[in-house]
Amino acid sequence: MTTWTLECSACDPVRTREADGFPDVCEVCGSPYLVRYATLPSPEARAHLGARRWTMWRYDGWLPLRDGEHPVTLGEGGTPLLKVERVAARQGFDQLWVKDEGTNPTGSFKARGLAAAVTRAALAGAKEFVVPTAGNAGIALAAYATRAGASARVYAPATTPRPILDQIRAFGADLTLLDGHIGDCGIAARLHAADTGAIDVSTLREPYRIEGKKTLGLELAEQLGWTLPDAIVYPTGGGTGLIGMWKAFQELHQSGWLRGPLPRMYTVQASGCAPVVQAFESGAERCTPWPDPTTVAAGLRVPAPLGDRLMLRALRESGGGAVAVSDEALAAAAHELQVAEGIDASPEGGAALSGAVALKNRGVLRPEQRIVLFNTGAGWLYRT
Ligand SMILES: *Cc1c(COP(=O)(O)O)cnc(C)c1O
Repeated sequence: MTTWTLECSACDPVRTREADGFPDVCEVCGSPYLVRYATLPSPEARAHLGARRWTMWRYDGWLPLRDGEHPVTLGEGGTPLLKVERVAARQGFDQLWVKDEGTNPTGSFKARGLAAAVTRAALAGAKEFVVPTAGNAGIALAAYATRAGASARVYAPATTPRPILDQIRAFGADLTLLDGHIGDCGIAARLHAADTGAIDVSTLREPYRIEGKKTLGLELAEQLGWTLPDAIVYPTGGGTGLIGMWKAFQELHQSGWLRGPLPRMYTVQASGCAPVVQAFESGAERCTPWPDPTTVAAGLRVPAPLGDRLMLRALRESGGGAVAVSDEALAAAAHELQVAEGIDASPEGGAALSGAVALKNRGVLRPEQRIVLFNTGAGWLYRT
């Protein structure tokens, strides 16, 4: 029987609360709550995974799902981990993989988080949802809310690529475009939630999207035969992927499913919006909001992430780092993954490759290391 409580990620001493209803941020300090499980799966449970379907719910013992509860699912997770030998040879790496999250339902890794959050909210009786998005979270909410028999309202920047907006509408969501960035959309979403009682599933305003994103790390470990790479290079916006994976690796260690060192976690951002890189380099614990954020990598256009403290902690605890790349470099790298490997990389996926090359050129990553890049979404969604 999976049971859990919620722990504030910032209050000292740690504040906990029961996981009833559908939680918001910490009532005292406004920081994100994280899920803390009473027990984790036993080391023996690993051997029983084999026969289960390749979706993220094969790890249901690690997820906020009680016995007898059914997830809201479109078959998310179970994405390929692809060795990219041509790109590796060209760029001077020995062992380079891409985890291709563009193959998820709804075209991005956002499916994992929204499947988990919509599942918990639907079990708590939610019928209406709202999310601010740079794009892909809007598609995922639209699809998963529909799958749960509920409705969705999405606030997105007017600059969001057209195919993404078409997909949000295709799944029947009520879409409002705003002149501004995801932070402006977040304000509108909170007002809408306060007015209507709709459930706000903004990044880290609730604790369950992180749990869905955790399956990125669980799946990666299983695909590498229960080992972990030396380094993970991840395109970062709101930070759910980075924070989720770091939580997964720590829980895998605690449970005895894994031994050995954890990977160094590296964040890649676009040079037109790099608050995490700036905070990491200046030694700060929190980000300074980035003025006038601009980048074609819509998912990275997050000027003031709510999870900044947790991201910076994961980067530092893991011995990793952060790097910014230009829009030209990330677009060229996405193109390289497309034409050299047949992987339909999004601009964010291109940022991961471009960032890895930049880190290697600085001598931070070494050619002989085992390195995993994340292509977080499908490239076609950006083709306007
Ligand atoms: C949302 C998004 C990101 C950033 O995600 P976080 O894990 O929240 O930092 C990166 N790439 C794509 C394609 C996205 O949709």
